[in-house]
Amino acid sequence: MCLYGQGVSRGYAIGRVVVMGAAALEVAHYRIAPESVQSEKNRLIQALQATQQEMQEMADNLPDDAPRELAALLTVHRMLLSDPLISDETLSLIEDKHYNAEWALTTQGQLLGEQFAAMDDEYLRERGSDVRQVIERVLVLLSGSKTALRLDHESDSDELLIVVAHDISPADMIRLRGARFAGFATDLGGSTSHTAIVARSMGVPAVVALGHIRALVRDGDRIIVDGANGTVLVNPSEVALQEYRRLQQDFIDERAELLLLKDVEAETLDGMKITLHANIELPDEAELALENGASGIGLFRSEFLFMGRADLPSEEEQYLAYSTAVKAMKGLPVTIRTLDIGADKTLDGEATVATNPALGLRAIRFCLANPELFATQLRAILRASVHGPVRILIPMVSHMHEVIATRAAIASARQELDAKGQSYAEHIELGAMVEVPAIAIAIEPFAAALDFLSIGTNDLIQYTLAIDRADNEVSTLYDPLHPAVLRLIANTINAGVRFGKSVSVCGEMAGDAHLTRLLLGLGLTEFSMHPQQLLDVKREIRNAHSNALRNKVAQALNRAHAVDPSSLYH
Ligand code: PEP
Ligand code: MG
Repeated sequence: MCLYGQGVSRGYAIGRVVVMGAAALEVAHYRIAPESVQSEKNRLIQALQATQQEMQEMADNLPDDAPRELAALLTVHRMLLSDPLISDETLSLIEDKHYNAEWALTTQGQLLGEQFAAMDDEYLRERGSDVRQVIERVLVLLSGSKTALRLDHESDSDELLIVVAHDISPADMIRLRGARFAGFATDLGGSTSHTAIVARSMGVPAVVALGHIRALVRDGDRIIVDGANGTVLVNPSEVALQEYRRLQQDFIDERAELLLLKDVEAETLDGMKITLHANIELPDEAELALENGASGIGLFRSEFLFMGRADLPSEEEQYLAYSTAVKAMKGLPVTIRTLDIGADKTLDGEATVATNPALGLRAIRFCLANPELFATQLRAILRASVHGPVRILIPMVSHMHEVIATRAAIASARQELDAKGQSYAEHIELGAMVEVPAIAIAIEPFAAALDFLSIGTNDLIQYTLAIDRADNEVSTLYDPLHPAVLRLIANTINAGVRFGKSVSVCGEMAGDAHLTRLLLGLGLTEFSMHPQQLLDVKREIRNAHSNALRNKVAQALNRAHAVDPSSLYH
């Protein structure tokens, strides 16, 4: 049997299944007697406190080699756990409706899950899984059992273990580190889900969004996780096993070879020097960027600091986060993108219904409509600039007046800092994301007015092709190779050359090594991507001939149909 999902961490794992339980699916539902309300509430409060304590202990005792994302994810989970949306609302359900604690908790969890699911931004939408995972931990403690995970098969066989789950929480990830596991396969998740983030940072193959794998396999089944193709083979034939063992060895050899490229130049065969930057969501990821040879941070998605909490991060808290990344990069540039939050999600977690969220009050539109919030963020970014070169990147720009208003907001943030005697770097570059087709078409005034441009292909594709990037039903039409998309990218790159401004691509296209030659052929000299993708892309660059690619791509662009990237290899 072959199951199809989304490969989120490359590599191949062959091993025996360990099914991880999903506590939320198995809880009892009953009403309690009025006189038991207080003791039921106490039971919940104790479980919440015990979960907090468990997570605190886990964070305090993180092994030195634990992926750095885990510490941050545990912080998010602890914050969620103390959020009144979880505790107060659940207590009210016990009080008002006399639900037992487990029922109240799953009911509230479902409500929050629906609110997150309605969010437009893929990253924020996937934070709904944090709520579910936190709730599952509390349910496990309510049920009196120590863990939702069984590793009974560990001692039965010498084969490696592969975890199959509905979803995997960071807390379970920590437990799994000690066990002999080789891969992950989950029903839920997407490319920015925790399973994906952590699996990538551990270098463990993973396939998510498999639908019903948890129901389809049993403990002890042999499976192959193909993280490259996003498939899982259940009880494969001997021929398939042999083939995958070969692929596995090739992959291991290839990674070892790639690491040798860390300190070599990203330069094409004909001498074109390429800048390779990293995308990060957490300040700690700067270390990972350096380990993979990044020469700067091309995109720091600052919205992570604002999510999963009831209040806004203070100027101090933001300053600490930005300056941590800047210091870690030791003098290399750090591009901090101002808050990119969507119209359907308010910061306190309450969903509002926008007519069309993707076209609503999001990103820079939202920040300009909330000047206090924007000023706080800008002051924090400016203050971080004393620790190293900082660049400010504006998301979702569609009008020149937004650039002018942002410059004015930066100027008044400087004045506020002057008044308090706080310092900042004199010159900070200002750039815009090119992700709205309008500015990619009429790019000249933006190329003239700004210091740099960064093409956000994820949104540029969505808006150019009128395809919701998060809607599975139209995902086959989400085509990075559509000639219209490529022409918009080319137009932006060419304007950068004419105006002497740097242009990078920081959307997913930049980290896809199959598209490296195409982007080089479009004239791109700056790429920004997840740190784990940097060396793959660097290898492609070092084997490519930039001038020859430019000629080929220029010819292909004039044709009406999509460009075939494989044609650029011969
Ligand atoms: C993009 O749109 O390509 C981008 C990099 O921004 P995000 O994915 O955060 O919207
Ligand atoms: Mg975007």
